Amino acid sequence: MSLRRTPNPNRNHPVHCPYCAGTALFPNEETEFAWKCHDCLRIFEAKFYGQDDPFTRPSLAPSTSEAYQLSLEKHHVVL
Ligand SMILES: [Zn+2]
Repeated sequence: MSLRRTPNPNRNHPVHCPYCAGTALFPNEETEFAWKCHDCLRIFEAKFYGQDDPFTRPSLAPSTSEAYQLSLEKHHVVL
């Protein structure tokens, strides 16, 4: 029997308590994502749910060969 839990790769590591800005944060056994602030004794979770798509997506960068051809055309180089 192991007393250590397997590490949770999705656990985030907050730097400051969101309630009192304290830095004495320790993982808590309440949930897999819980942290306990030893300054204000609050227990909270820090989770990352994903990222929204941007309003405008940047255009794709040209491939190396496309960029090379564009550069040749720009500088009027004839091979
Ligand atoms: Zn706190």
